[in-house]
Amino acid sequence: MKQSFKLMTVFDIPIEINYTWFIIFGLVLVTLAQGFFPLTNPGNNTFIYWAAAMLATLLLFGSLLLHELSHSYVAKRNKLPIKGITLFVFGGVAHLEREPQNPNVELKMAIAGPICSIALSIFFYSLTVFFKSIGVASILVSMTYYLFIINLFVAIFNMIPGFPLDGGRVLRALIWKYTNNIRTATRIASNIGKGVAIALMGLGILQLFGGAFVAGVWLIFIGLFLMEAAQMSYKQLVFKKALVGMHVYDIMSQNVITAPSDLTITKLIDEYFFRFRHASFPVIEDDKIIGVVTLHDIKEIPKEKWSSTIAGAAMRPLSARLTTSSHSTVASALQLLATNGLGRALVMEDGKLLGIVSQKDIAKLFQMKEDLEQ
Ligand SMILES: [Zn+2]
Repeated sequence: MKQSFKLMTVFDIPIEINYTWFIIFGLVLVTLAQGFFPLTNPGNNTFIYWAAAMLATLLLFGSLLLHELSHSYVAKRNKLPIKGITLFVFGGVAHLEREPQNPNVELKMAIAGPICSIALSIFFYSLTVFFKSIGVASILVSMTYYLFIINLFVAIFNMIPGFPLDGGRVLRALIWKYTNNIRTATRIASNIGKGVAIALMGLGILQLFGGAFVAGVWLIFIGLFLMEAAQMSYKQLVFKKALVGMHVYDIMSQNVITAPSDLTITKLIDEYFFRFRHASFPVIEDDKIIGVVTLHDIKEIPKEKWSSTIAGAAMRPLSARLTTSSHSTVASALQLLATNGLGRALVMEDGKLLGIVSQKDIAKLFQMKEDLEQ
């Protein structure tokens, strides 16, 4: 399932909204319409509260978007390609196609967001003072005041030094500058990010026990989000670094065992699956590869038919989704393996089978590289 949908395009950057964002939108809307506005402006009717809450939520959304765009603007100016922006729970994530080329670019890019939020907060504060002085409806004054506080909060929250929050990126850039090693820098910054996430969740649980249900849920939610993001970003960086420049040829298993297409399932199980313990075998007919037979597919066939069904009838016929070239990059092969429903692909060249490549092999290789680098 797609987890986000496209909202619009700004500076050639597609802006997407993640579905989790709607939960937050709803939470903010309800909190404002039933809590904040009735408390600060008692005596108005429900419609006014909801209208004010809607407007404030949209302006908050706009503020978060501006925050993200300011990151992207700096990235673009430093020739870092941005694939898109996805708005998440708190703020968003700009998808960089690659890591910043040096710590100074990272530093400028990371700090742009909080600076934008502080500018917005000053703007809404001035508006509050101005509205008060000319005596507009007090609910509008509460709204600009709320936006002043929330933008200030967004700036402060994002400056928490846990990767991948902006503050964590600033920290990473500084460690990177000092150690000249982006990997060490990312590891330290994302560990601090995990620490912050655990602290937020702990605080949330305390709030729940203390009876502050909404605040508790908020904190646990943000903590969980931050935890996952911190783990993901470090893993991705290490993974990308380990596999960069590698091709399918470097990692495929050669000397693949193939099964003849006229073999019955019973024999296939005894003589191939039990003997070699692979999860699948390429199927061969007249010296040509015609498909792949998997244990998973065989399980779907009733046992009493195993002695009368041949491999050629139980296999998945050869298709582009099941094959890759030995010159493909490991990164593109991984994408294929993750989506072809088999987790492996045959490496073919001019109709000949050169080898086989699987997700498991790549994971194992990655693990070995990791172990050796410790
Ligand atoms: Zn940011």
